[in-house]
Amino acid sequence: MSAYADKPTDFADWLKDKTRAEPTAFATRRRYGAYIQDVLKRTQRGAMFGGGVKRERGEAVACRAGSGWWNVTLDSGKIIEANGVVLALGNQPVSQPVVFADAGVPVLSPWDAKDLQRIGRGDVLLLGAGLTMIDVALSLASRSKTGTIYALSRRGQTPRMHLDPPRPPPPTPLQLPTNLSDALHEFRREACEMAERGEPWQLAVDRMRSVTPSLWRALSTEQQRRFLRHLRVWWDVHRHRAAPEISERAQALQSEGKLKVLAGEIISAEKKGRLVEIYHRQRGSMVRHRIEVAAIVNCTGSNLDLTRSTEPLIQQMLTEGLARAHPTGLGFELDENARILDARGQTHGSLYAIGPITVGSFWESTAVPEIRARAAAIAQMF
Ligand SMILES: Cc1cc2nc3c(=O)[nH]c(=O)nc-3n(C[C@H](O)[C@H](O)[C@H](O)COP(=O)(O)OP(=O)(O)OC[C@H]3O[C@@H](n4cnc5c(N)ncnc54)[C@H](O)[C@@H]3O)c2cc1C
Repeated sequence: MSAYADKPTDFADWLKDKTRAEPTAFATRRRYGAYIQDVLKRTQRGAMFGGGVKRERGEAVACRAGSGWWNVTLDSGKIIEANGVVLALGNQPVSQPVVFADAGVPVLSPWDAKDLQRIGRGDVLLLGAGLTMIDVALSLASRSKTGTIYALSRRGQTPRMHLDPPRPPPPTPLQLPTNLSDALHEFRREACEMAERGEPWQLAVDRMRSVTPSLWRALSTEQQRRFLRHLRVWWDVHRHRAAPEISERAQALQSEGKLKVLAGEIISAEKKGRLVEIYHRQRGSMVRHRIEVAAIVNCTGSNLDLTRSTEPLIQQMLTEGLARAHPTGLGFELDENARILDARGQTHGSLYAIGPITVGSFWESTAVPEIRARAAAIAQMF
């Protein structure tokens, strides 16, 4: 989790200095945020005699090409001129599921702490069963007024657990064929062989990590879509794992019956006074089940379908043809160096993207090890 690819122990050293934690410890996100702030301060100090880092508060609402530079317009009307632009917009706000929007039932954001605190007495429904669900479930479970927490997703699969203590994967990456079915077959064979040798399955997944972007780019759009339809859920729960302590706490909630993970879909929602009546169907069954909850929280993750984005900057860039969405619908379409492709499939000098909005182009691109490597590579290109 170091911010620097060439200084892999930077975060571990910082953490040890602040908390005496061992390098294999799992740190909280709050701590990690403090570390990133510190990295930025160090960079600002170090850059005093160089180019410098200037922070600007505002929302970028448009990005247009000038003659030889870029003009980025802020919501204040101010225009920033730049030789290069890197879109690091992060996770995009989730869109509301139609069944709730049509019924006029509010759905809360998992990142709005005030809204979560205001949830009244009763059961709660969390949409999604991934890491965000676990986060919200643990926070809500600590309040005495929370009843049963339901987590509902199509498959009801939850994130598996990280190795404790964590171990680096074997140094040789797993080379897989560039056809989806063959790659899956080969991966399974390799994982079985590792299991026979007594090695944990987590290492098989981690051995793929460095080669995932090139494998993903070698797949046809049709194969990428097939992966998203059939394998994504399995990928997500094995690749995006929970820290052991967090995973154990979530499992304890499930054993106590406080957290119930459901596989299925919502059929209807209706407001009944301060509660919401919900009918849902279990996967593979036609039987309807009724629950009544005090609140619904959308933990389904980032909305990476940029064609449905309501963000002014994204809308402007797509409408004016400066960028185009990836054919899978996930994020922008980029060349192999993370340059944004325009509507005609051409790149325009130094216009880059990084992080979650590059998922369609590189797949493995949302976590710190990939982001720091990409950031360093983009910096080299200026
Ligand atoms: C529950 C959860 C757990 C995770 N756990 C891990 C983990 O253990 N390890 C790991 O490596 N990763 C983890 N991740 C992923 C990681 O947190 C994110 O992918 C990463 O923070 C993305 O970094 P970023 O800088 O690209 O975007 P962000 O950190 O999301 O930052 C984007 C910034 O851009 C700003 N912005 C957006 N649009 C505009 C605009 N138009 N104008 C101006 N500013 C704008 C936003 O306000 C924000 O400040 C996790 C994610 C989640 C949701």
